Amino acid sequence: MSHPAQAVRVAGSEVARRLQVCGIRATEQRLRIARVLLAAPQHLSAEQITEALEGLGGHVSKATVYNTLNLFAKHGLIRQLNVDGLRAWFDSNVEAHYHFHDQDTGQLSDVALPEVEFAKLPEPPAGMEFAGIDLVIRLRRRA
Ligand SMILES: [Zn+2]
Repeated sequence: MSHPAQAVRVAGSEVARRLQVCGIRATEQRLRIARVLLAAPQHLSAEQITEALEGLGGHVSKATVYNTLNLFAKHGLIRQLNVDGLRAWFDSNVEAHYHFHDQDTGQLSDVALPEVEFAKLPEPPAGMEFAGIDLVIRLRRRA
């Protein structure tokens, strides 16, 4: 088993490589933000990422976090989700998938493509093709 500090360094260079692959210049601040979100397949808001960074002992302004996340999403490093109209969620999983949204807790979880089948879709307008389908399945506790 490797030393934990070594594991962190390896993970850090992997994050730097992923930024580079997406054409994003790796600044120290961008790396810090990316390390938080890319640590696991997860959905986090800009507020949660700001809090996590503060928990790690450094202040990054909410505006910087938000701008950086938008930049990451624009370059395809992460995916931005608009689920409830209240806040943007940022998804570290950029593979095609759908979502469950728990309306009570706000929690998002992934639904794999093969778990959903569409029986009928409208014809796209002339000259257009489907680029993707976003699906959010809203959940609530049974009464
Ligand atoms: Zn997801």
